[in-house]
Formats: sequence, C-alpha cells, structure tokens
Amino acid sequence: MTEYDNYDVVVLGGGPGGYTAAFRAADLGLSVLLVEREERLGGVCLNVGCIPSKTLLYAAGLIEKTLTFSGKGVTFAPPVIDIVALGAHRNEVVSKLTDGLSALAKARKITVLRGIGSLASAHELRVETVNGAVTVPFKNLIVSVGSRPSKLPNFPDDERIWDSTDALALKFIPKRLLIIGGGIIGLEMATVYHALGSKITVVEMKDQLIPPADADLVKPLYRKLKKEFEDILLSTQVTDVKAGTAGLEVTFKGASGEKISQYDAILVAVGRRSNADSINIQKAGIELDKRSFIEVNERMETGVSGIYAIGDVTGEPMLAHKATHQAKTAAEVIAGHPAAFAALTIPSVAYTHPEIAWMGLTEREAAEKNIAFSRAEFPWAASGRALSSLASAGFTKALFDPDTDRLLGAGIVGDNAGELIAEAVLALEMGADYRDISLTVHAHPTLSETFAFAAEIADGSITDILNPAK
Ligand code: FAD
Repeated sequence: MTEYDNYDVVVLGGGPGGYTAAFRAADLGLSVLLVEREERLGGVCLNVGCIPSKTLLYAAGLIEKTLTFSGKGVTFAPPVIDIVALGAHRNEVVSKLTDGLSALAKARKITVLRGIGSLASAHELRVETVNGAVTVPFKNLIVSVGSRPSKLPNFPDDERIWDSTDALALKFIPKRLLIIGGGIIGLEMATVYHALGSKITVVEMKDQLIPPADADLVKPLYRKLKKEFEDILLSTQVTDVKAGTAGLEVTFKGASGEKISQYDAILVAVGRRSNADSINIQKAGIELDKRSFIEVNERMETGVSGIYAIGDVTGEPMLAHKATHQAKTAAEVIAGHPAAFAALTIPSVAYTHPEIAWMGLTEREAAEKNIAFSRAEFPWAASGRALSSLASAGFTKALFDPDTDRLLGAGIVGDNAGELIAEAVLALEMGADYRDISLTVHAHPTLSETFAFAAEIADGSITDILNPAK
C-alpha cells in the first residue's frame, strides 16, 4: 500500500482535458488523483496557448484599432511598446487563471501529485517525483497528456528558431520574422508580432492560408495581410536554414523557383504532435496511430478496460473546447452515467484580425463528399454595426439542406466571429432550419443580426439588401 492507492480515478495530465475531468469526477463523488508534471495546472491552453496568445492578440487589436481610426476624428500617438510590461501583463492573466485552478482542485479535495507519469502496466502508473519514483495503481485512468509543437527535421539548433511557446515568451521583437506554417497558430502570432513592429513573411506549403477553412472565408484576411505583411508565400516550402551571425538564411522552393532570404527569427508553426508517445502506453496494451493519437469511442474508452483518453491525444481537432467536453464524458462514464461525446460539430476559430470562424459542414467537405446544400451569404458592408465599427470587410454565410431547410454549416469572417459562431453551433445542435433562425428576433444594431440576415436570404424574406433570390 502507498498513499496513492485506492483512488476511484487517476488523471494523467492537468490541462483543460485533465483538470476538467478531475473536477467533474470529484463533483460526481469520486476520489481523484491528478498527476501533472508542471508546477501549474492548466496545460498548454492556459500557460502557453489559448490564454497568453489571446492576451497578446488583444493588445495587437488595440494597436491596430488606433491606427485604423486615425483621420476619422480621433488621432492617436504611435504606440510605445514595452515587451517587459506586456509580458508581465500576460503572466498576470495566466496566473489568475492557474491559481484559480489550484484553488478549485483544493476545494474539491483532489490530490495533485507533481511528477512525470508513464504506464507501468494496464493497472499501474509510475510517477517520477522530486522525491523519487512512486507506483500508482489505478482502477480508472484518464490519459490527458496533450500535445507539443511539431519540429521540422534538419533545422539548426539556434535560439532564434522558435516554437509557439518561444514566440509567446516575447524574448525580443525581430526586425524580420519568418513564420513557417500559415495555419491558425502561425497567423495569430504573425498578427501579434506585426502589431509589435516586426516585418512578417508567412510561408505555407498548401495553396491557401488556414487550409481547413473554406477559401472564401480566408480571402478577406488574405487580402488584408497581403498589404500589411512583407510577403505571403503559398505553395512554397522551406528547404534549408543556415544560422549565421547576421541572421538566419532561409532557402524557399515554390512554383516560381528557388529564393533565399535572411531573417532575424523564425517561428515554426507546422502543427502539433500528441504526447501519447512519451508515456509508455504500449505497456498497457494500447497501440498508437501514425501521429501518436489514441483511438477512443464515444465514451472516451480506449480498447483497454478502465483506461480512457481525452483531449489532444485523441486527435484532431486539437482544441481546448473539445478536450473539456470529452473530459466531462469520461468522468461521467466512470461514475456510471450513460454519457457519450456526440457533438454534431466542434467550432474552429482563428483569432486573427479579422477573425475567422466556422462550424458544421464546409463547402470544401460538401464538394468532397458530394453533399447538396443551398448557400446564403450576408455581406457585412450592409450591416450598420459593422460599418460603425469599421468592420465592413466581413461576411456571414450559412449552408442549408435543400430538402429539409435545416442548417448544415456556417462560416463567419469579421470582428468577433469567434463569439458569433456560437449561435450557429446551437442552431445546428437544435436542428434549426432557416425559418427558426430568421424568425428569432436579434437585437439591432449587432453583428449577430448578420446570421439572421443570412437565414432571411435563404428564406427569401431579406429586406436589408436586395433579395438575391428575386
Ligand atoms: P494540454 O493542454 O497539452 O495538457 C496536457 C497536460 O499534461 C500538460 O499540463 C502537461 O504538462 C501534462 N503532461 C504531459 N505529459 C505528462 C506526463 N508524462 N506526466 C504528467 N503530466 C504530463 N485551443 C483552443 O481551443 N482555442 C485557442 O484559442 C487555442 N489557442 C492555442 C494557441 C497556441 C499557441 C497553442 C499552442 C495551442 C492553442 N490551442 C487552442 C490548443 C489548446 O491549447 C489545446 O487543444 C489544449 O490545451 C488541449 O488540452 P489537453 O488537456 O488535451 O492537453
């Protein structure tokens, strides 16, 4: 017997998945041991992901707004940027949240064991703590060890080559910054460093920024960034990086041949890799797929009795809100509830300026799977709220089932798209058709009206613009 015997649930990893699972299990009356290797709970999302990035993006947004408003009656002095103070503010936001998690864990009487856990068998964890290794037997284990940034092979080992954690650390503001990877994380960090004064180049292997999003949603962002950034190289790969004293010399290969350029720093943002390959999970009889993901069913069960997996280790989309919902399911299943993670959609948001958000069916997916849909798009140039807040470059689109009129998918590009998409997610989950949405009274003037207007277009009852159906 050790002090760690006899917990109803052991949770490995204290990120959004792990702490949510632990809290829900405790609230359902189960005794919980939470194993986390870092000093602070919260995982990637709170410490080096969602929260610090959104804190810096907020600052970037303020800088941008002051510039766009100049000449319209209020002119601001150029911003004075102090990255030490900005970093302190970011840390304060993160600490408030992570300290809150520790307090919530304590209040729920959850035992938090600091150490690096790995599987010893299908019934035991081995945890390396500062006081040596301990064995933790378990009846139920929830694996939530998350993910880490993917690396590119053959890059020099140089402190000017960053991953997202380095970029969030605000070590310095490079004069010329190359972002490898035009996905969400790469573009969010590009937005931050552009506002702080770096000249940005983004290089993306595919022919579009944010490749999973529909091309029309990305277009307004692309147009804006093309003007603001030094360069955006699509369908282009980095084939070589040489570290010199004057900078990092990068060779690109694209459709127009080879080119060489020098940068002061490089952010590699080419995706993330599951940490399930670092916990000896095979010792429990669980096999990983090619990207080290763990396969689970709707109840978050792996193939091995008593072992559950949640969050980034279970595959794409690697998002905090997927992890927290899966976490509740796993805790409820262990507590004997008839729970399942059966969300119809998991929304995606790029917190760029403008923001891009989408949910449900995309036009790309519809084309691939030959799914019929009708499409309605409301341009924000016709929204009073968008015009008054200088956000008229966006639009809201909705896809409907031509037979049932039900909502199939939606996409929004513009200010607050990440907030606005929630209504579409709810509409999809509730099986709403375009009449349900258009007959719902939306406050005026709000950006939320644009979703109702898209439904009115589908219904043929729109009055704010000429009816495209007529
Ligand atoms: P993690 O958050 O990775 O947590 C895993 C935890 O397990 C960590 O605390 C880790 O220390 C611990 N751990 C790992 N191995 C061991 C071990 N062997 N023993 C003990 N502990 C271990 N998602 C969004 O939804 N919205 C966003 O805006 C967003 N922005 C992001 C921005 C950036 C820059 C990055 C990098 C990610 C962002 N994400 C965002 C993704 C989000 O952070 C992840 O999807 C989320 O954190 C996954 O939660 P998780 O619990 O599965 O794993």
